[in-house]
Amino acid sequence: MNRFLVFVCALLLAGCVKPSSLKQEKWFQSDGTVKVLTTTAMIADIVAEIGGDQVDAHALIKGELDPHTYELVKGDDERFVRADLIFYNGLGLEHGLSLRESLDKHSRATAVTQKLLETKPETILIVEGQYDPHVWMDIAMWVDTIDPVVDALCAFDPEHAALYRSRGEALRIKMCEADREIYEMLQAVPPEKRYLVTSHDAFNYFTRHYLAAPGESNWQVRCKAPEGLAPEAQMSISDVIEVVSHAQNWGVEVLFPESNVSQDALKKIVDAGKKRGMTLRLSSHMLYGDAMGESESYLDMVEHNARVIAREFMAKNG
Ligand SMILES: [Zn+2]
Repeated sequence: MNRFLVFVCALLLAGCVKPSSLKQEKWFQSDGTVKVLTTTAMIADIVAEIGGDQVDAHALIKGELDPHTYELVKGDDERFVRADLIFYNGLGLEHGLSLRESLDKHSRATAVTQKLLETKPETILIVEGQYDPHVWMDIAMWVDTIDPVVDALCAFDPEHAALYRSRGEALRIKMCEADREIYEMLQAVPPEKRYLVTSHDAFNYFTRHYLAAPGESNWQVRCKAPEGLAPEAQMSISDVIEVVSHAQNWGVEVLFPESNVSQDALKKIVDAGKKRGMTLRLSSHMLYGDAMGESESYLDMVEHNARVIAREFMAKNG
């Protein structure tokens, strides 16, 4: 027997030569599509809509994982090497060190919010000295991530530029229609009921755009959360008391858990509220804050949130 074959068989038996299951994934195959890596699923969805059959988009941070703290796992490095283009949120969302470093190093990585920051800086919220990265919560702002994606795809794959541009325009129209419907649904809720308490500070953009009364300057009182911009922060008893007092002041009856954040803080708020004789409860449906969860698309995610919030605001306690 050929000595080389014997050597290969021995390696296979020893488990040394294992076909990499990762490399067998369709995303790693050279099939003529542009291989795009995104951090969040919300960005992957926009890329897939614009890219169509010409693009294969893969989200690094899937399911209920937290984008604020995500660190690279086995196989992610290979994705960075293979990716033709990379899109990430920016505004400090992705602050896990290993992810941050890989994004900074890559020559074709685009922050989809960078153009927004440069052209409409007044729309970007700053919370306790930091940019609020949760721009996807306001569809009218997330529309502005279409152009950077279209531009990067056109530059990389000019042959299909016309397709990317026309899909980008179609997506813009679809998003603007969804934005209008959600705005009208939430503005139909009486203003005195439009006070949102969630697990972490992910709904500032949502509140400013959909829950505030037109032109309202003090809209910030309409949203509150026991945990800050990134949900990993330690929560203190004073954070709980602050939210209970806020709920009492503004007649809040329902608190909204988020799918990828522990409910402990909100349960403590319900208990503390009961001791004050308040009727607080948790929403029976969770919101999607930083993760799309089971949503089929980005727009499904925001529509789900809007429907749950509108329904719970209109429901009576007891
Ligand atoms: Zn968040």
